[in-house]
Amino acid sequence: MNNIASKLSNEEYEANFAELHPPFTSAAATVEANRCLYCFDSPCMKACPTHIDISTFIKKITTGNMKGSAKTILSSNWIALTCAKACPVNVLCEGACVYNAKGEEPIQIGRLQRYVMDWYVEKGMPQLFTPAPKNGKSVGIIGAGPSGLACAAELALMGYEVVIYEAKHIAGGLDTHGIAPYKMKQQDSLNEVKMVEKLGVTIKTGVRVGETISVEDLTKKHDAIFLGVGLKTPTRLGIPGEELNGVYDALTFIEKVTTRKWNSVDVGKRVAVIGAGNTAIDAATEAKRLGAEKVCMLYRRSEKEMPAYKFEFELAKKDGIEFQFLTAPKRILGNGKVEAVECLKMELGEKDSEGRRKPKPIPGSEFQIPVDMLIKSAGQNIEETFLSGIPGLKTAGGVVVVNSETLQTTNVKFFAGGDCINGGKEVVNAAADGKKAAGNIDRWLFVK
Ligand SMILES: Cc1cc2nc3c(=O)[nH]c(=O)nc-3n(C[C@H](O)[C@H](O)[C@H](O)COP(=O)(O)OP(=O)(O)OC[C@H]3O[C@@H](n4cnc5c(N)ncnc54)[C@H](O)[C@@H]3O)c2cc1C
Repeated sequence: MNNIASKLSNEEYEANFAELHPPFTSAAATVEANRCLYCFDSPCMKACPTHIDISTFIKKITTGNMKGSAKTILSSNWIALTCAKACPVNVLCEGACVYNAKGEEPIQIGRLQRYVMDWYVEKGMPQLFTPAPKNGKSVGIIGAGPSGLACAAELALMGYEVVIYEAKHIAGGLDTHGIAPYKMKQQDSLNEVKMVEKLGVTIKTGVRVGETISVEDLTKKHDAIFLGVGLKTPTRLGIPGEELNGVYDALTFIEKVTTRKWNSVDVGKRVAVIGAGNTAIDAATEAKRLGAEKVCMLYRRSEKEMPAYKFEFELAKKDGIEFQFLTAPKRILGNGKVEAVECLKMELGEKDSEGRRKPKPIPGSEFQIPVDMLIKSAGQNIEETFLSGIPGLKTAGGVVVVNSETLQTTNVKFFAGGDCINGGKEVVNAAADGKKAAGNIDRWLFVK
């Protein structure tokens, strides 16, 4: 890529990627914890998909019972450190805090949870739970993302032999390879992986099920299987010019940034990002923080329909990201490398099946935006080829079909959770699914 943005000093990179929500000091955590009203109906606990007993873990902070607090958190959520740093708390637990209704600041639940989990990691993650004696059964888990890890931890505690098969060489799924470095460090996710391994779970990395090992072999080896395979990337835009140098998919770019080897990631001076979901916003803000001079996001609908959270949109605007709404790419132009993106202006028409007004091109509205780098973030899909190799397993509407009560798939030996059944939500949903599936695998194996 020509027109690479100038490299920054290491101090500048570190400042640009400094944590958005720095940790509490012990005194500040105690003051904040003492504000919690310990509501009788805990709306925060209900709003959390993993239903952590939030008031109780916060109460334990006030009495200095950090171990007890960590135990309360982990008994509901094995991915609690990542969730503390990366959950959209303002639409979940903190959004439900009763202080909002009083017109006051909600309790900073995420930062308090982080305070406890950081303490737990610093103490070397002491064993807080005793696994049950081995029950003679084994479960294979495909994917070491948050759903697979949560399922594995829970099953290991119940006495199962658990083996996770992970295609990548480093475990953790998108917690390790996707979440923006100003929210959390890759090491946080790796600590969580270690926590699960300490429960006796075996993680085999560099093993892609369907290639390195067959589904058939796995099915013979284990009494049940959990699918926590997430989604695959990327979806092609299907426009001319995608093969040009300087055109990237968002996750490939983001994955490089999560390694924190800032200098090794080239970024264009002028960057266009296609899409307006949370991943697109992450790619845009990360490009800007790496030194891109101008970053512009192109979205074919209007601001009202954009899928990104409002707080992510606000963050991008604060970073100086420009937005071109009602704009769709038509083709990418360049001679070997990207030089411009030709766009069409759009207008909104009839509502689609999801109730969103469909964008349609305005004829003759073509215009060009000069760029040195183009990042595509137009959604992810399930890995149909791999999933179609599992006998009897049904997919529909871009997700694996499960019984919503049990998370069992249409092949009774397989359970599933996380992004592959919800089409891409949050870490906390994946963590909740993993735990729920573990309980149902246990019931199915011992009651069937
Ligand atoms: C860029 C980005 C940023 C995000 N930021 C946030 C955030 O700030 N906060 C938040 O709450 N959520 C965020 N999310 C969403 C969150 O990361 C996901 O919802 C969550 O990771 C889903 O967990 P999972 O276990 O279902 O799948 P994943 O995390 O995707 O893990 C799936 C794992 O399965 C492995 N796998 C796939 N196929 C195979 C196979 N055949 N054999 C073996 N292994 C296989 C993959 O390599 C991967 O490690 C973000 C997502 C993205 C893409």
